[in-house]
Amino acid sequence: MSYVDEVYERVVAQNPGEAEFHQAVKEVLDSLKLAIDANEEKYRKMALLERLVEPERIISFRVPWVDDDGQVQVNKGYRVQFNSAIGPYKGGLRLHPSVNQSILKFLGFEQVFKNSLTGLPIGGGKGGSNFDPKGKSDREVMAFCQSFMTELSKYIGADQDVPAGDIGVGAREIGFLYGQYKRLTGLYEGVLTGKGLTYGGSLVRTQATGYGLVYIVDEMLKKNGKELAGKTVVISGSGNVAIYATEKAQQLGAKVVALSDSNGYVYDKDGIKLDVVKEIKEVRRGRIKEYVDKVPTAVYTEGKGIWTIPCDIALPCATQNELNLDDAKALKSNGCFAVAEGANMPSTREATDFFLENGMLFMPGKAANAGGVATSALEMSQNSERLSWSFEEVDEKLHKIMVDIFAKADDAAKRYGVAGNYVVGANIAGFEKVVDAMTAQGIV
Ligand code: GLU
Repeated sequence: MSYVDEVYERVVAQNPGEAEFHQAVKEVLDSLKLAIDANEEKYRKMALLERLVEPERIISFRVPWVDDDGQVQVNKGYRVQFNSAIGPYKGGLRLHPSVNQSILKFLGFEQVFKNSLTGLPIGGGKGGSNFDPKGKSDREVMAFCQSFMTELSKYIGADQDVPAGDIGVGAREIGFLYGQYKRLTGLYEGVLTGKGLTYGGSLVRTQATGYGLVYIVDEMLKKNGKELAGKTVVISGSGNVAIYATEKAQQLGAKVVALSDSNGYVYDKDGIKLDVVKEIKEVRRGRIKEYVDKVPTAVYTEGKGIWTIPCDIALPCATQNELNLDDAKALKSNGCFAVAEGANMPSTREATDFFLENGMLFMPGKAANAGGVATSALEMSQNSERLSWSFEEVDEKLHKIMVDIFAKADDAAKRYGVAGNYVVGANIAGFEKVVDAMTAQGIV
């Protein structure tokens, strides 16, 4: 049996019940085959893959807090410190009822390669809780965040592990978490990213994942003799990534016709009015169905089905496994020719294979959504030098990072004889830097 298959079997046997983690590991290991085969003996001897798939550390803890009725609630809290070969652990915190160890291990594993691809010195980690911020009062969210940070603060630091936002964690939560960290440790340091602009945050961080996604799509299209202007785009989700992907796509002349949330999707044939969406989502924390109250010509549909809307480009920006094989087929038969992942692992393995086998342009999440974490690393740099850079300066750096990520994925795919396969390209390019650093640092 090949080394890659052996390690995958071991992962399944040793991490029972962790389906999402198995899925992420399989996708990466399969696409590393070409790079591993050339060095199989050396990597085997060093147990390189066995080390790569085992988190350096998982911290799991109790998060007790008091709700508005005076009832004590208890959630599970985690931080997965996956790999620190190229820098301090870096990656978001997710607050969502679906969060468990498998989800956070898949996210942490992906983050290792994504962060490597940015070219910046950041290792990979992820954390979060099964706490559901939806429907909670500000006071309840604060109580949860303070309790969560009371435990987490023992394991993080500006040069050690730097969490940020993810699903369910935005500016409000980062503020509460930061305040509690400072209060407990007495340190005013860049321990979290995605901070508010008045206390060490970076311009462009809010927009970065969405903008970065569109920058790399634009680059991928150009390098394949196509252009973004005039194209019809369907974007799933309506959180931070989807909103700023819509904004940048519109600025570059594309027409975004749909957005969604976990309840359903809205289709606006005239193009999504982003000020309406921002008011619903960013100001009122409402649901996407409210869009049709403001724009009666738009149509809201309850449930799944957003990928049946005809488009040229699809940008899944909601959550893992939201786009399956049937969705992929529907997109293709309606004329879609490019897909890029704003969320982490939104396409199932079958959907990804379908895109690649059917000649569609496909940019996987760890390249396509790396703009968020890359800008977090720029926030860390600004915190270290106690300066803040202008919007234009950060945006220009973000743009260059995304263009470079495309070039790295494209180049690695070509080097291994699979030109245009950006899944293989991104995984190999991310892997090469981490492996080089791990090898140089000895058996750790
Ligand atoms: N949660 C984001 C991601 O999936 C951002 C992480 C960060 O900024 O550290 O990459």
